[in-house]
Amino acid sequence: PTPTLYRGRFAPSPTGPLHFGSLVSALASYLDAKKHQGCWIIRIEDVDGTRCKPVFAEQILETLNSYQLFSDEPVRTQSHHTDTYEQHLQHLKDQHQAFPCNCTRQSLAQSAGNHPLECDSTTAEPHSWRLKPSDLVYQYKDEIQGTLVFTDDLKNNSPVLKRKDGYFSYQIAVVVDDHLQNINHLVRGADLIETTAQQLHLYHLFGWTPPSICHIPLITNDVGDKISKQNHAKAIPNGDLPTLLRALHYLKIDLNQPKNIHEALTLAIKAWNPSQLTGIQSSPLEEQDLPLI
Ligand code: GLU
Repeated sequence: PTPTLYRGRFAPSPTGPLHFGSLVSALASYLDAKKHQGCWIIRIEDVDGTRCKPVFAEQILETLNSYQLFSDEPVRTQSHHTDTYEQHLQHLKDQHQAFPCNCTRQSLAQSAGNHPLECDSTTAEPHSWRLKPSDLVYQYKDEIQGTLVFTDDLKNNSPVLKRKDGYFSYQIAVVVDDHLQNINHLVRGADLIETTAQQLHLYHLFGWTPPSICHIPLITNDVGDKISKQNHAKAIPNGDLPTLLRALHYLKIDLNQPKNIHEALTLAIKAWNPSQLTGIQSSPLEEQDLPLI
């Protein structure tokens, strides 16, 4: 049999410009794909129409291009595929795995995640659709983090699949797209570990094989917070070799004065070795890595 081609992706949510931490994630997924002679795809995860903006999607793509991180296939934009997510939500409804709900986050917090009895028969509009809790335990081997076991992530937990305001959630869109795009390897930031059990559960309910998944250590600021748009991480400059070299440094790749971005990427693909990231919980951002613009 012919070996299955490696297919990986970088899937940013355009809620702001690309920041240093997302450049590191983009590089990790790119290097892993290229090390395996695989295909690397960019997908814009803009299902949350209240937080995502087309202008940020454009900026992110421009920045990725400026670092010569080009998608091997046309970029998929999730907001163009809501019909697909609706069909897959319907499948879960048909299996009685999705239930309507008009609980609020606050009311669920007060009841330890338990929904009142009448909740799943609500007809009141608007309401959200949630995934049924489950007693199943999921486990998988993460090439960087080791074996991860999720014992009660799905108990008393009913993630939103479609919100009251009609937007689909990241959880359903990411699983449906990774499956439809035949993505078989995910390399992403450790902040997404907490979403993994729910995604494995969705794969199970749809009867699909999940991709292999690994999580790179987070980059944190000097007080230990994740570097993200939420805590105002700044945009990075476009096409800047020193920024690229600093991002590679976080992936344990230290190059000896490459001439340009192209040469840096070529050398980085050869040097990429995710097992060197094993055992690192998070890497504090160093002074010189603070964005210069
Ligand atoms: N869109 C998600 C984010 O920007 C990442 C999705 C993933 O890699 O699974 O956090």
